[in-house]
Amino acid sequence: MLSWSWHQRMPPQCAALPLVVKSLSGCRAVPPGRTSQDNRGERGPLSKPGERRHQPRKGVSYVGDGKDDQMAVFVVDQHHQPLMPCSEKRARLLLARRRAVVHRRVPFVIRLKDRELEQSQVQPVALKLDPGSQTTGMALARVQETPEGEVHHALHLAELAHRAEEIRQRLRKRAVYRRRRRQANLRYRAPRFLNRRRPPGWLAPSVRSRIGNVLTWATRYQRWAPLVRLDVERVKFDTQWLQDPEITGVQYQRGELAGWEVRLYVLEKFGRQCAYCGRTQTAFELDHIWPRSRGGSDRVSNLALSCHECNTTKGSQTASEFGHPQVEARARQPLKDAAAMNASRYALCEALGRLGLPMGTWSGGRTRWNRDRFGLGKTHAHDALCVGDLAGVRRGEGLTLRIEATGRGSHCRTNVDDSGFPRGCLTRHKRIRGFATGDLVRAQVPAHLKTAGVHVGRVAVQASGSFRVGKADGINAKYCKLLQRADGYGYGQR
Ligand SMILES: [Zn+2]
Repeated sequence: MLSWSWHQRMPPQCAALPLVVKSLSGCRAVPPGRTSQDNRGERGPLSKPGERRHQPRKGVSYVGDGKDDQMAVFVVDQHHQPLMPCSEKRARLLLARRRAVVHRRVPFVIRLKDRELEQSQVQPVALKLDPGSQTTGMALARVQETPEGEVHHALHLAELAHRAEEIRQRLRKRAVYRRRRRQANLRYRAPRFLNRRRPPGWLAPSVRSRIGNVLTWATRYQRWAPLVRLDVERVKFDTQWLQDPEITGVQYQRGELAGWEVRLYVLEKFGRQCAYCGRTQTAFELDHIWPRSRGGSDRVSNLALSCHECNTTKGSQTASEFGHPQVEARARQPLKDAAAMNASRYALCEALGRLGLPMGTWSGGRTRWNRDRFGLGKTHAHDALCVGDLAGVRRGEGLTLRIEATGRGSHCRTNVDDSGFPRGCLTRHKRIRGFATGDLVRAQVPAHLKTAGVHVGRVAVQASGSFRVGKADGINAKYCKLLQRADGYGYGQR
């Protein structure tokens, strides 16, 4: 479980807020030129005339060297239109002065009550994505044009952990339940396998969930930040061949896959080694494991990487007859992550098209080169920041938001024990006294009770109305206050 504690205390502040200076009659606004470049969307006097400053002026003003660039808080205007993100300190002042309200807790979004998009200046912000099979890196960057090229200033970094494995396991479990129901002495259920056709463009549920996750977050960021474009990393393999070649091999047989993409794939799968003799530095050929002369197909799972000598010697033998049965097994095994990524990245780009933003697609090689050049450590968020044709990046000092796809609970209402016998049922209704398991709540329990104090965390509900909040058990629903509804994601910070 990810920790919730981070958003209660504020991380160290990056930049002071050099907006107002002291004068004899309280305070006055500094001319707009002194305002930080990043806050141009928020230019103008922050405090009302005559209002006292909350804090003494200290720290240095932003000089545009990009060092203290991290803007952590999203800002929307009174009509929920996105403005430029602001610093945490500024957000705190805006909230303290009642000029803004909390729009959302995690990620933190504030809504200005007296500001419209038309009155504000926004700068171009790019959403940059590095889709991965386990984790997707996401970065929001302010785009600065320089003579050398674009410099991207990180406004927000996040890593999105997918739940592909969990989905795979749950579906496998469901299949087992169904099989048992057919075989046990229960009412008759016709077997439902081998009688379905997969529609064109079908993707595995785990892949679909991954695309859904990224699309959800891209849509959210579009609501909270003035996005003008997307930069997405494509994999080492060209994604022209969309479908997972090993599962729906027809695509390849129909010639939709250009030969060199298959070559790249097979090269990767066999680790750039001859499958038979293990030679590395040579011109490779594609060998049909079950020879074409004997009716072998062009499916990727029938192809092995071979040097010219082995391929010639093998002739019209199968790999087993040639004395290498292990090659057959290996060829049948899909290159798991890469196969999934090829399928999902193409579909992802298509899905992201729905956002209506211009999209640049880039190669993983360029990302790695950028990251090396700019001296950033290897994390998914850094990879995302380094996607694209760049002259430089400013990472800032902000932490990376760690987002974990958790799902919204299970459809199944009966819990079972290890032997598969029912053990307890979940309620038919998910929401108890206005709360559902996973909601973020704040519970203030009076002093005379055992669980006295303030608890903030995710709630686990019970039909009795006695909830668990964070680690404290037995808190009555009447002491709980909703902070944010469960949205299928858990949050932490790094
Ligand atoms: Zn060989």
